[in-house]
Amino acid sequence: MRRPVVMGNWKLNGSKAMVTELLNGLNTATADIDGVDVVVAPPALYIDQAERLIKENASKLILGAQNTDVNNSGAFTGDMSPEMLKDFGATHIIIGHSERREYHEESDEFVAKKFAFLKENGLIPVLCIGESDAQNEAGETESVVSRQIDAVINHCGIEAFNGAIIAYEPIWAIGTGKAATADDAQRIHAFIRSHVAKHDAAVAEQLIIQYGGSVKPENAQSYFQNPDIDGALVGGASLKADSFAAIAAAAAEAKKA
Ligand code: PEP
Repeated sequence: MRRPVVMGNWKLNGSKAMVTELLNGLNTATADIDGVDVVVAPPALYIDQAERLIKENASKLILGAQNTDVNNSGAFTGDMSPEMLKDFGATHIIIGHSERREYHEESDEFVAKKFAFLKENGLIPVLCIGESDAQNEAGETESVVSRQIDAVINHCGIEAFNGAIIAYEPIWAIGTGKAATADDAQRIHAFIRSHVAKHDAAVAEQLIIQYGGSVKPENAQSYFQNPDIDGALVGGASLKADSFAAIAAAAAEAKKA
């Protein structure tokens, strides 16, 4: 049985006051929820504050981040490294988000390098994959996600997916309120798992595959009741403690043994 993982991607949102309020609220709201890993990925500048608040509250919340560089130190202005992320206790690191692929022109190969470097440094890559609206309309979803996964397999080998996470995020569903139907998401998740299983069945079986794209408390349960949807990567709804906790609770309830 895979333990579900619900992760909040705060993107470029926050202030010191907001981080304190949200993490204190989340700590209270998730205190009684068991059977799910609840991860928060604040903007880099607030990771230090988040670590301190999580420790002070003796919270079960897990710290993540939204990006990494492919070097641990040196002349790489503006970047942050796996070593630094580890220094602050961050474990789950988002890579390949469609916003970085689009606005920072990150290629499949560069994302695969990040995946490899996170693994080398003992961190958990949360590999975002997913198709655009046009690709969806053209029936190219399976070929797009296969290409994105194969870039990692070719660079790192299939074993690298042991302990890693894939977040299937159709780009047209991110921040739009136009979520994929639970049936469509399950179909693509099953495809992703079978694609990985072609290389190694055991790796595919343990792989956490999250759905991301306009997940809300109102639709969360419909995703988690499907066998191949092991959690969610949540943007907008992760900025409200009650909404995010409700999504985590739905995952715990749907996946309880
Ligand atoms: C995301 O950015 O990863 C995301 C899924 O955003 P939202 O939940 O707001 O659609």
